[in-house]
Amino acid sequence: MRYVIVGGGAAGMSAVSAIRALDREGRIELVQDEDPLAYSRPTLFDVVAGRREIDSLRTAGSDWPERLGVTVWKGWRAAELRPAERVLVTVPAGAERRGTWSRLHLEYDRLLIATGARARRVQLRAVERRRDDRVRVLRTLGHALAIREELYRVRTAVILGGGPLACKMAETLAVMGKRVTMLVESGQLLSRMLHPEGARLVQGLLEELGVTVRLGCGEVHVEQREAGRTTVRVQGETMEADFVFAAKGVIPATGWLEGSGVVLAPGGGVEVDHEQRTSCEGVFAAGDVASTPDAVRGMRVNHGNWVNAVLQGRVAAQAMVTGRSSSPGFTNWNVMVVCGYPVASMGLVRAEPSDEVVEIGGRKRYKRLVLRDGRLVGVQLVGETVGAGVLRYRLALGCRVRPPDWSLLLQPALTGCGKGRPRYVPRTRR
Ligand SMILES: Cc1cc2nc3c(=O)[nH]c(=O)nc-3n(C[C@H](O)[C@H](O)[C@H](O)COP(=O)(O)OP(=O)(O)OC[C@H]3O[C@@H](n4cnc5c(N)ncnc54)[C@H](O)[C@@H]3O)c2cc1C
Repeated sequence: MRYVIVGGGAAGMSAVSAIRALDREGRIELVQDEDPLAYSRPTLFDVVAGRREIDSLRTAGSDWPERLGVTVWKGWRAAELRPAERVLVTVPAGAERRGTWSRLHLEYDRLLIATGARARRVQLRAVERRRDDRVRVLRTLGHALAIREELYRVRTAVILGGGPLACKMAETLAVMGKRVTMLVESGQLLSRMLHPEGARLVQGLLEELGVTVRLGCGEVHVEQREAGRTTVRVQGETMEADFVFAAKGVIPATGWLEGSGVVLAPGGGVEVDHEQRTSCEGVFAAGDVASTPDAVRGMRVNHGNWVNAVLQGRVAAQAMVTGRSSSPGFTNWNVMVVCGYPVASMGLVRAEPSDEVVEIGGRKRYKRLVLRDGRLVGVQLVGETVGAGVLRYRLALGCRVRPPDWSLLLQPALTGCGKGRPRYVPRTRR
């Protein structure tokens, strides 16, 4: 069997090792445009802060291709997929820039699309028409190194966005002694992860570090007036900053699939079923690029996180080798550490009036469970994430949660929050 994996990130690498564990003889080829292979994106903030060197980011030893018997096409970019011929066409990364047009045709029996996503850029109104990369984004090691190089001259930073990446960048820069202002479109931080009460705790942690958080900013205009200085206009006010960073979401990396016949979801991700199969025979997708059925929402979602990317890679691998796969069921699963405090969010964030809610709060701790028809559909943990793995599986499997279980599920919080019993909010106000 000939397997081709496109993308050597979390999903691609997890699929490669799972395929090899199931098929000792098959030919595995990995196409990867980025160098170095197999590193952890969540640790890129350590690179920005100068706390880590590149070699320590690697998630696999440098001998893994020989160990697993994998041919790696490093520095090659997938450019075209021809499912009818079962051929992937690749070109050297950056070929358009260099004007080189060599091509490599890879034949496959099973192909995995694991090309992840790219950072969404904001529209820059350049007063003098300059390059539009003055607003920094962070997705790759290259981005992290460019930011690190720039930071020595930065005193004031503006961060556009209030999601996990924005919060982590605000923390990183504040710890480095920069004056940081976050401009957040919505009325709270982490609006896709947390209930406002949990978000207020995170905001408090950032403010303790000296970060200014401005909520409900609406539209923000960014203009570059001179090299190194950027003007940000928000709500009629003008701010100058040495450094502007945007964390406004990601776009699935599917441009190269145009014309291939692989069906894409409205958000641009590759539509897959429970076994990570795409609309084309023999072609699978996993990780940030895939739009996967969500166990809680009942619709396809781009989950965009490390754990799901790894698990989806394994599910795809099993289906690619054996023809069948068993999925643990995927849903939103975000875990991060802000200012030393763990934060986890799974499943639904907002409760409907007909849902039940169990929550417990305390100083720098907040936990919340959302139940729908007796089943767990949402979990949020701030300040303490003990038991998060158990909750995740109960949620993904749609387990019923009966009244005594609520306390058990929140048990670590009972000792940690110092605020007594969990509060049960029946189907009323949210
Ligand atoms: C700074 C940062 C911090 C994060 N922190 C967290 C965290 O704390 N917790 C968490 O759960 N998640 C976190 N994430 C998200 C997490 O890293 C991603 O969900 C995960 O990396 C997705 O893995 P993937 O394999 O789908 O995609 P990727 O890791 O993006 O890998 C895709 C690979 O495919 C390559 N590629 C793309 N197009 C082509 C092509 N045409 N040909 C060949 N190769 C191609 C890319 O270069 C890339 O190497 C973070 C992400 C970032 C950027």
